[in-house]
Amino acid sequence: FLPHLVASLEQVQQTYIMVKPDGVQRGLEHYKDLKAKPFYPKLIDYITSGPVVCMAWEGVGVVLSARKLIGSTDPLQAEPGTIRGDLAVQTGRNVVHGSDSPENGKRETALWFKEGELCQWTPAQAPWLQE
Ligand code: UDP
Ligand code: MG
Repeated sequence: FLPHLVASLEQVQQTYIMVKPDGVQRGLEHYKDLKAKPFYPKLIDYITSGPVVCMAWEGVGVVLSARKLIGSTDPLQAEPGTIRGDLAVQTGRNVVHGSDSPENGKRETALWFKEGELCQWTPAQAPWLQE
C-alpha cells in the first residue's frame, strides 16, 4: 500500500485533498500523469462535472496518513472504515482524491491554491495527535 511513502513518514509534508463532485452532491488539468490512460476522458468529464471541495493538509507523514483514511482506488478493495470503503462503490465514482507522494502533494496544492489562500493554523489538540 503506497510502500514508497513509508520511508517519508518523518517529514513534514503537504497533501492535497479533494471531495470529488459525487461527494459534494451525493475541474482543472489535475490528472496530467494519467493522460495516457484509457479512462482519462471519462475521468475528466467526472472531475469537471460539478463543484468540488478543496483542502490542503500539512503534517508529519500526512501524505500516507491521508491515503490510509481514503482507502484503495477501487472502493471494493478499500477497507471498511475508509472513506472509499464506506461511501463508494465504483472506481469511477470514488468520492475523494488524495495526493500519492510528497512531490505531487506540493504540486497539486500549488495548482489549486494561490499564495496567501492557505490558512495555516495549529489546532490546540495538535500535540496530542503527533509527537
Ligand atoms: N480511475 C478510473 N478508472 C481506473 C482507474 C482510475 O476511473 O481504472 C479514476 C478514479 O477516480 C481514480 C482516479 O482516476 O481515483 C485517479 O487514478 P489513480 O490511479 O491516481 O487513483 P487514486 O490515486 O485516486 O487512488
Ligand atoms: Mg492518484
